Amino acid sequence: MEKFIPSGRPGLEVFHQLQKAKNVKWAVLDTGELGIWKTDLTYLRGQGDGKWWIPIWGSYIETPDAKIIVDCGQDPNDPEIKRRISYAGIAFGPIKQTPEQTYEYQLDKLGVKAEDIDYVLYTHLHFDHTGAAKLFTKAKHVCQMAEIRYAAKPDPFMLISYCPSEYIPLLDLFEPIEGDAMIVPGVYCLSTPGHTPGTMSILVMPEKGQAFMLPGDSSYLRENFNDEWPPGFVYEPETFVASIRRQKRIVEELNATHWPSHDPEAFKELKKAPAWQYSDY
Ligand SMILES: [Zn+2]
Repeated sequence: MEKFIPSGRPGLEVFHQLQKAKNVKWAVLDTGELGIWKTDLTYLRGQGDGKWWIPIWGSYIETPDAKIIVDCGQDPNDPEIKRRISYAGIAFGPIKQTPEQTYEYQLDKLGVKAEDIDYVLYTHLHFDHTGAAKLFTKAKHVCQMAEIRYAAKPDPFMLISYCPSEYIPLLDLFEPIEGDAMIVPGVYCLSTPGHTPGTMSILVMPEKGQAFMLPGDSSYLRENFNDEWPPGFVYEPETFVASIRRQKRIVEELNATHWPSHDPEAFKELKKAPAWQYSDY
């Protein structure tokens, strides 16, 4: 991993100079749905709009240099999750997951073994992004240093969203980064904090096809992205908005596609594993 851009300058020209990956495959891994109030998705907006069922998913990405997981979905069987979703009087959940909506099942369909994964990239460490983390015992687990520090001891208002039992036992496998980094040619982590202290976006640049960005919860919905509107679950709203603007600059500069993490409409447009959402083989 190497630093590739000075901090503080998103750079409207620099992104064209990044290395691209020769061959890329991307599959979407669906781990079910979570019930959440609309106003929790859009800060103070949508009160009275009832509960939404949002998709909970991650990705498998393959380049000639590495096999990569981006986010780990949810694990409704984790007893700690059940305790957390009833915490602090926040009406949250329930979690829905069918037997086919596990990483074990979907990676098997793709012919990929968990022990062959080289990197697990976490956009952040909320429980709906860490469910399958324990499967990847041979991988380097990458997140922002600010995120792992915060996730070890979150503030009370964020406690509901983290499940330390899913990542603290794996700490020896973690390789935290600070700011932007290239993981392998064509795969980049971009710092886009605000939803949490260390939220980041993943940018993939295939040599042949269109670049795509996986912003994690830096954009829950297209509404957050288009309207520069924070979610209800937010650490620093102002920083979140600055990160939305950073995503917009990069997406526009690269003509990249952008896939919000929990948008039911955007999720319908994605092909799900074992189909490939992108493959230039
Ligand atoms: Zn989150």
